[in-house]
Amino acid sequence: MTAKIIDGKLTAAEMRVELRQEVAKLKDEGIVPGLGVILVGDDPASQSYVTAKEKTCEELGIYSDDNRLPADITQKELITRVSKMNADPKINGILVQLPLPKHIDEGQVLLAISPDKDVDGFHPINIGKMVAGQKAFLPCTPHGIIQLLVRHGVTLEGAEVVVVGRSNIVGKPIANMLIQKSKTGNATVTVCHTKTRNLAEHTKRADIIIAAAGKPGTITADMVKNGVVVIDVGVNRIDDPTKKSGFRLVGDVDFEAVKEKAGLITPVPGGVGPMTITMLMYNTVESAKRAAGKI
Ligand code: NAP
Repeated sequence: MTAKIIDGKLTAAEMRVELRQEVAKLKDEGIVPGLGVILVGDDPASQSYVTAKEKTCEELGIYSDDNRLPADITQKELITRVSKMNADPKINGILVQLPLPKHIDEGQVLLAISPDKDVDGFHPINIGKMVAGQKAFLPCTPHGIIQLLVRHGVTLEGAEVVVVGRSNIVGKPIANMLIQKSKTGNATVTVCHTKTRNLAEHTKRADIIIAAAGKPGTITADMVKNGVVVIDVGVNRIDDPTKKSGFRLVGDVDFEAVKEKAGLITPVPGGVGPMTITMLMYNTVESAKRAAGKI
């Protein structure tokens, strides 16, 4: 069996068409969704993420308030910026690009974002609501994974899912979302990490594997059963002298070998990655609808 490839770029593009239409309809009613973006310092990776987010806003008709701040900004000044955005009715979502410089307490800055504008879904209030199964902004990467699964007809109810990784931004939230008593949950989930005794023992019985370890080669073909659905979240740079940059990106899964056994698999790049920004836009539009009392 050779797996069908889940094309994240295509799914993200389809969702963006839906969002563009929704934003146009809202504009007809005088509602313009707005995203406030804060980037501190000049880390090239963060700069390119923020630029991509701003470009997507423009493409969808979402207003974006771009704030590029110096690396030596104080925590107090940064929190003041966030507070201004909390009070600004033009802004429905606030994105503080992580990581922040070492002298700033990331947790305190994220806490300063109003939970009503926390479109990254990282505020403890939104995390708590998500765990309790209440309406909340869902974190973008896990929410994007759910969309990829659902939009490719993967049955979640009763499925054995193995999540590899337990970070706050991927492993824990995706595990929580998949155990919810809901149409996009009802799975039986095992969460593995570096203290898991025998990873392969778990992955071999999985109907769905979500690999978010950040280590190339974590999932190899001998660790999966035939027909498995594989979502590869990992983004790892490995040396490649044939590339101008000297590196290429790979996931956590041995893609070439695993695709020969899997039923469905995401590539890296072009799988989960394109969904993440799209879900940020989705949350911003949801927030604008909530602020306007439409939902
Ligand atoms: P992280 O905070 O480093 O967490 C990695 C997790 O994987 C940890 O829980 C760790 O276990 C576990 N782990 C590492 N090696 C393992 C192994 N050999 N076996 C089992 N578990 C192992 O990473 P993250 O922020 O969740 O990100 C994970 C990957 O996804 C990274 O490559 C990141 O770049 C990528 N990512 C992609 C997107 C996207 O939009 N495409 C978004 C977010 C992240 P311990 O807890 O025991 O240390």
